[in-house]
Amino acid sequence: MRTVRGLTDHVVVIGAGLAGLSTALHLAGRGRRVTVVEREPWPGGRAGRIDIGGYRIDTGPTVLTMPDLIDDVFAAVGETRSDRLELLPVDPAYHAVFADGSSLDVHTDPDRMTAAIEAFADRKQAAGYRRLRDWLERLYRIEFDGFIAANFDSPLSLLTPQLARLVALGGFRNWDAMVKRHITDSRLRRVFTFQSLYAGVAPQDALAVYAVIAYMDTISGVFFPRGGIRALPDALADAGSDAGVQFRYCSSVTELERRGERVTAVRTDQGERIACDAVVLTTELPRTYELLGRTPRRLGRLRAAPSAVVVHAGCDSLAMPDKPTAHHSILFGEAWEQTFTDIIRDGRLMRDPSLLVTRPTAGDPSLAPAGRDLLYLLAPAPNLAGSSVDWSGVGDAYARTILNTVADRLMPGLRDSAEVLDVVTPKDWARQGMAAGSPFALAHTFGQTGPFRPANTVRGIGNAVLAGSSTVPGVGVPTTLISGRLAADRITGLIDRPVAHIDMKAPLP
Ligand SMILES: Cc1cc2nc3c(=O)[nH]c(=O)nc-3n(C[C@H](O)[C@H](O)[C@H](O)COP(=O)(O)OP(=O)(O)OC[C@H]3O[C@@H](n4cnc5c(N)ncnc54)[C@H](O)[C@@H]3O)c2cc1C
Repeated sequence: MRTVRGLTDHVVVIGAGLAGLSTALHLAGRGRRVTVVEREPWPGGRAGRIDIGGYRIDTGPTVLTMPDLIDDVFAAVGETRSDRLELLPVDPAYHAVFADGSSLDVHTDPDRMTAAIEAFADRKQAAGYRRLRDWLERLYRIEFDGFIAANFDSPLSLLTPQLARLVALGGFRNWDAMVKRHITDSRLRRVFTFQSLYAGVAPQDALAVYAVIAYMDTISGVFFPRGGIRALPDALADAGSDAGVQFRYCSSVTELERRGERVTAVRTDQGERIACDAVVLTTELPRTYELLGRTPRRLGRLRAAPSAVVVHAGCDSLAMPDKPTAHHSILFGEAWEQTFTDIIRDGRLMRDPSLLVTRPTAGDPSLAPAGRDLLYLLAPAPNLAGSSVDWSGVGDAYARTILNTVADRLMPGLRDSAEVLDVVTPKDWARQGMAAGSPFALAHTFGQTGPFRPANTVRGIGNAVLAGSSTVPGVGVPTTLISGRLAADRITGLIDRPVAHIDMKAPLP
């Protein structure tokens, strides 16, 4: 594995998002002096926050999976996650609502889910689910260490025995087709393929290797931190501070000083010059290359993931009918396949919306004023690169459409009691510096995955390393936490560490 050569005693990390925090803790735990420079007044980056009218709103990720990876980051500085952060299991992981009015609670426990599928469909689908679960577990085990959590120096690094096993498991076939081998009910198939949206690709076009995302939420489980998602970066930053990491908030990096092939210092808009032996950039890719003073030819050809409109709303707790709304509900439109064509190929709004409805107050009621609930409604939307939607014109009207869809299909009382707290459109993500107005970085197409994704090393600059969603392994909370560890490995070389995340030797079902 290629590593940074020469002195690496003091490392400056640009950005206190999850990738930057993970990098900082891994490096601090390996004896490096670390300074994190962050333009905002708090840590978290895309795992962001706004507080409006007594509501404590998380603005980014809501579906938190793979807590073992969070444990690894705390363990890097000798800490235990539970001392800093209370993670509550979300059960059911999702409540799936289909256009025909049927619904299904998605449980991660195999027996409960088998029983739920038998009641929802039939015994054949339930048996198919057990086989699918087995396949997903095998896929995850092969992929995790060999592909997801590994540094690649070139595509040739892929040629390992694990690759042959992955091919044999059907990892390079089509995700949707592989799921169809086990489950034929089209509603159920959606439950195990909709996650391809997280990767920015339609299930019909996605490689089966990405089905590991379905492993993460439908098998490994979904969690929620007490205090909201923001409690995660806060806890990581506190653990970092106690381990000696220096944080400079409200400081934007404006320039990197270079001598030959090395970055020697970081300059900020506060007039500070911070000398360093190595630098880790977790900024959005175009900004990263601007700071590094180089523009790879490939940059313009990279494909951004689709974007999203997020509506934050408060509502009367009594707006819930007799059965309170789950923490996460997915409303699938009838025209599910058309949805991907709409937003990815045609660059238009979904004609038949499919939505993620999150009610964080299901996990922690203190996030809203007494008697109120907080809702986070996410609608996949085209990014700005392939669409001519005028967001200043349609943003508010589209937010109303989203609220009405949720009222029609999930929460009838919402129509009378909803107060819109904030609406975030692709134009707003662009204003925050996100390329093509997408908060989900580069799509995980084959050509933008693993050794083909922009690498975390930089040609011609020996002591700069990248981390975050635009580089390996990719977008999402688990992956950006891993990217921080991979960046640390590039600086210190591999270290012996216990593999806390999974017992690879445990028998498969
Ligand atoms: C709406 C939304 C929903 C999501 N849903 C999920 C989900 O449910 N589950 C999931 O796993 N993932 C989800 N994600 C993705 C996940 O949140 C991101 O992949 C991850 O948080 C990105 O972390 P990062 O550290 O790579 O980038 P960022 O969080 O963007 O961190 C980069 C940091 O760098 C700072 N910065 C930028 N420029 C400078 C500069 N010049 N100087 C100093 N600091 C700078 C920024 O302020 C920021 O803090 C979602 C994201 C969004 C936005």
